[in-house]
Amino acid sequence: MIPPSFDYHAPDNLEEASRLLLANPEAKLLAGGHSLIPMMRFRLAEPAALVDLRKIPGLSGIREEGGSLCIGAMTRESELEKSDLVQSRYPLLADTTRVIADPVVRNLATVGGNVAHADPGNDHPATMLAYGASFVASGPSGQRTIAASDFFTGPFSTCLEDGEILTEIRVPEAGPGSGGAYQKFERKVGDYAVAAVAVQVQLDGGRIAGAGVALTNVGLTAIQAGAAEAALVGSDGGDAALDAAAQAAAAAADPTDDHRGSADYKRAVVRVLTHRAASSALARAREAS
Ligand SMILES: Cc1cc2nc3c(=O)[nH]c(=O)nc-3n(C[C@H](O)[C@H](O)[C@H](O)COP(=O)(O)OP(=O)(O)OC[C@H]3O[C@@H](n4cnc5c(N)ncnc54)[C@H](O)[C@@H]3O)c2cc1C
Repeated sequence: MIPPSFDYHAPDNLEEASRLLLANPEAKLLAGGHSLIPMMRFRLAEPAALVDLRKIPGLSGIREEGGSLCIGAMTRESELEKSDLVQSRYPLLADTTRVIADPVVRNLATVGGNVAHADPGNDHPATMLAYGASFVASGPSGQRTIAASDFFTGPFSTCLEDGEILTEIRVPEAGPGSGGAYQKFERKVGDYAVAAVAVQVQLDGGRIAGAGVALTNVGLTAIQAGAAEAALVGSDGGDAALDAAAQAAAAAADPTDDHRGSADYKRAVVRVLTHRAASSALARAREAS
C-alpha cells in the first residue's frame, strides 16, 4: 500500500531537528526507515511529516570512552557486525546484531531506531537491559542520560519527551571476567523472535558478582528478569544456579498465545534459552578472565 502524503525535512543539525519535531506534533523521526516505513505503508502510522536524521553529522560511530562503549544512535546494524571492537569484546551485542532480520535490513536499520521504536519484538531492548546500558537524549532542554531500565514505558513507547532525539547508546565497558550471550528462537531466519534471552555476567574470583538477564517478545516490553539475575549472583555458575535462573526467567515472562505459539510454549522456550545463554555467557566470561 502507498502511504498517505507527508512533509519531508532533512535538517543538518540536532537543534533544527528538535525544533521541527516541536513545531509538528504529528511528525516522526526517520532513521533507517525499516520499522517506520512498513508501518506507514500498512497505514499503522500516518505521520504528517518526517524529520530525516541522516544529514546530521556525528550521530554514528562506535568507540570506547569514559568507561563505556559509545554507539551513535544512527550506527547501522551492519557496522556493529563489522566492528572488531564489538566482535572481540562485546559478545552479547555481537550475538544480537547477527540475528536481527537479514543482511539487507541490517545495512540500513540503526541501533537507535531499534531501541527508540520499542517494539517488544525488537532484539536490542533486552540486550541493553541486560547490559545495564544508558541512552543519551538531546532535546529542547538540553541533553540527558536515561537508564535502559527507565526507558521502555510500554509497547512502542518510551520516556522520550516531545522534541527529544536519541543520540547515543552507552554500554558499560567490557572488563576482565565479563561475558554475555543472546539466544533467539525464531520460526525462520530473519524473523522476529518467538522468544529470546540476553544474559550478561561479571565474574569475580570464580563466582558471579553481577548478572543481567532480559527477555524479548514475551511481554508488552522487553522484560528485565530480576529474580533470574538474583539466582545467578553469588553463585559459582553451576547447573543448579542456571536451572534456578531459567525457572525464574520463565516465571517473569508474560507472553500471549499468537501465531508464534502458545503462552505456555513460549515460557518453556524462555526457560531453555536462559539456560543456554547463561551457560554461554559464563564460558565467555571465564575466557575473558
Ligand atoms: C523484514 C524485517 C525484519 C525485521 N526483523 C527484525 C528482527 O528480527 N529483530 C529486530 O530487532 N528488528 C527487526 N526488524 C526491525 C529493524 O531492525 C528496524 O529497522 C529497527 O527496529 C528500527 O530501526 P530503523 O533505523 O529502521 O528506524 P526507523 O524505522 O527509521 O524508526 C523507527 C522508530 O524509531 C524512531 N526513531 C528512529 N531513530 C530515532 C532516534 N535517534 N531518536 C528518537 N526516535 C527515533 C522513529 O521516529 C520511528 O518511530 C525487521 C525489519 C524488517 C523490515
